[in-house]
Amino acid sequence: MKKLALFFVLVFCLPLFLFGCEKTPEKSFYEIEVTVNEEAMTLSCSEKVCYVNTSNNALNEVDFYLYANSFNEGQKAVSQANFLKAYPNGESFGRIEIHSVFVGQTEVEFLFEEPNKNILIVPLNKQLYPDEKVNISIEFEIFLANINHRLGYGENTINCGNFFPIACVYENGFVKNGFASNGDPFYSDVSDFDVIINYPKDYVVASSGIQENISEGKLRCKGENIRDFCFVLSKKFEVISQKVGDVTVNYYYYDQPNPEKFLQISCEAVKTFSDLFGAYPYKQLSVVKTNFCFGGMEYPNLVMIADDITDEQTINYVIVHEIAHQWWYGMVGNNEFEEAWVDEGLTEYSTALFFEKEQKYGFNYDTVIDNAFSTYKNFVQIYSSILGDVEESMNRDLSEFETEPEYVNCTYTKGMLLFDSLREALGKRKFEKCLKNYLKDYKYKNSSYAKMLESFSKSAGRNLQSLFEAYVEGTVVID
Ligand SMILES: [Zn+2]
Repeated sequence: MKKLALFFVLVFCLPLFLFGCEKTPEKSFYEIEVTVNEEAMTLSCSEKVCYVNTSNNALNEVDFYLYANSFNEGQKAVSQANFLKAYPNGESFGRIEIHSVFVGQTEVEFLFEEPNKNILIVPLNKQLYPDEKVNISIEFEIFLANINHRLGYGENTINCGNFFPIACVYENGFVKNGFASNGDPFYSDVSDFDVIINYPKDYVVASSGIQENISEGKLRCKGENIRDFCFVLSKKFEVISQKVGDVTVNYYYYDQPNPEKFLQISCEAVKTFSDLFGAYPYKQLSVVKTNFCFGGMEYPNLVMIADDITDEQTINYVIVHEIAHQWWYGMVGNNEFEEAWVDEGLTEYSTALFFEKEQKYGFNYDTVIDNAFSTYKNFVQIYSSILGDVEESMNRDLSEFETEPEYVNCTYTKGMLLFDSLREALGKRKFEKCLKNYLKDYKYKNSSYAKMLESFSKSAGRNLQSLFEAYVEGTVVID
């Protein structure tokens, strides 16, 4: 996600039930059929997951994250500061209703993690051993809130991000992230997706994966090696496209003169980051203008760009930031709830690297870094004068940041400064080798602070712990 406060801001295949999963055992496979009900603003969904136990433990249950419930009454989907941007028509609620869960062909009694139903617990009828797989089928309904957010409908778009139950990552148990009004509370494994979307015929749909029209108002999207699936639809969408190598970059927009320039910078970002980090391995990327209250949001093969940003430079900055997430979040995953800076810091820094190569947009590396320095210093000064002391640790989960400026400065801004210091210490060539190797080490996998430190230290040929720690623990003095 890009918080603007920082800068300026089921094709249900019966044989699958009978003979097990078709896909390779190392990753899960989601088949989802969703019907968009425009009048009721609901999504009626059938999901079948061929879940693979990639852990070393026998499992008695599989847990799923239910982000849709973060829009329910009693939850705080947005902080007070963003309330009016999020709810222009007044507060509105959304949620997920689970109708049934089957394990194989047996219906099971599912449970929720209380009190906010952030987790769906699916008990298995027998233990699932390592490398074994199980089919779990979930019928559910999404009630969309009238909110300019990842999941909800606004004046121009219906945003369907994080709408379906997604398996929690298993570490020493399932990782059960909470909800958070600051930041992206997401963490998932790379999987394959086959999604059918039934939608009103007068809408245009942007989505993750590769689209195939089945009939008017019916679309199939297939995505391999992606860690989530998102789609956005609008009656107003127009779309322009351009190829970068064999990648088709699409720009979905409405009410916008000169859309070509935003397609151009999107293409340049794909090219620049492919050169710097390693190739963008998917066949399409859609940059999608949406009703959204936080600047921008990343999903595999799809990024949302908020339609309330009117300043061209800011739109450019947000587009580049969100596209960098295709590498840091998309290909290389991490627990965004626990260690938000791991992807946000590196993504924000990648934006500086883009503007170092492409200086025609009014930014360059030094202006971006200098701006980060002064933004961070101002934050410390202002917070110190109000609170007497300011918590500067980056090493906090999303619920531990008390305010949005604290989250933004300690995660994005200071994360960017950390990587700037690293490049300063290692030199450009060695630093770029670190980035390329980091992508190779964790492509389609999940990283963490510890894994990132190990990868970078190995590539640099020296232990980088003290440098990382100074920033992450908050002991470095930035002045
Ligand atoms: Zn971001």
